[in-house]
Amino acid sequence: MARPILWIVIPCYNEEQVLPITAPLFREKLRELTEAGKISENSRVLFVNDGSSDRTWDLIRDMAEKDEHFIGICQSRNRGHQNAVLAGLMEAKDRCDITISIDCDGQDDINAMDRMVDAYLEGAEIVYGVRARRDKDTFFKRFTAEGFYKLMKTLGAEVVFNHADYRLISARVLQHLADFEEVNIFLRGMVPLVGFSSTTVSYDRAGRLAGKSHYPLKKMVALAFNGITSLSVKPITLITTAGIGFSLIGLILMIWAVVRAILGQTVAGWASTICIICLLGGIQLISLGILGQYIGKTYLETKRRPRYIISARTWEKEERRYLEDNTN
Ligand code: UDP
Ligand code: MG
Repeated sequence: MARPILWIVIPCYNEEQVLPITAPLFREKLRELTEAGKISENSRVLFVNDGSSDRTWDLIRDMAEKDEHFIGICQSRNRGHQNAVLAGLMEAKDRCDITISIDCDGQDDINAMDRMVDAYLEGAEIVYGVRARRDKDTFFKRFTAEGFYKLMKTLGAEVVFNHADYRLISARVLQHLADFEEVNIFLRGMVPLVGFSSTTVSYDRAGRLAGKSHYPLKKMVALAFNGITSLSVKPITLITTAGIGFSLIGLILMIWAVVRAILGQTVAGWASTICIICLLGGIQLISLGILGQYIGKTYLETKRRPRYIISARTWEKEERRYLEDNTN
């Protein structure tokens, strides 16, 4: 049996500090896997430059020039981690047999790749990397991240617990992932929806080797919200249920107020009225906000904007094209 061609897909955004440390590690891993006879020597490390404003793209180009195993594509601007990974996977899907997506900061244990490839060779089409321990993450990060997975589950979105975007996907599965045309992408939720046989591989999550995280709380909350609203409509059901519940309470209160008015006891109760108005006002605003999120999503989806735009590839010459005829 021919050995599979592996492409390691790595999103990079302003990573000039960590890239020189981790790139050789990825290269070494490729070598190891090739020597162990698990993958073809035509395997590659594909960097996706996500519109970095530092020297990341220069570094990638340099590496590609010196070693044919390094290749890279460049997004026309910063579009975020999920879009960068998707761009890389879509680039890879027709040129390799398997892909492994991983962050470039060395936080996810590169050695888990051996077990991922083994699992593929044994028949799995998708292998999820699952974080067994995350001691190196701050308590806050761990707390918010794990809370996120639990919330996702309660809200009806199917995700693999403690699995981020470190995973092996076969080209066969990617061909089908390409048919998921949504613009609001949340790969963790989309990949399980494609189906096919899958398994998990656990590893310990380390600290970043250099540089700092690009996922501040704001982006994490945005990702969580996107994850939930892209995968599940349960929040809308919850709003409806809450609406019915509060309407019933309101009805009871109305009867109570009328009865008190008839009995001539209406002086008291100002405070409770105000409380109710505030409470209901708040709930209505939240509900409208959540509904608005879904409507906004629909709006974005109907536009069908491209999910990524690749402006350069290391294996293509960057040439500006001018019109032959300059008469204009
Ligand atoms: N990343 C990206 N685009 C962005 C932000 C991040 O491609 O807009 C990449 C980044 O270079 C890294 C990965 O996504 O390879 C994960 O980012 P980071 O390590 O900053 O997040 P954390 O691990 O702290 O969640
Ligand atoms: Mg990281």
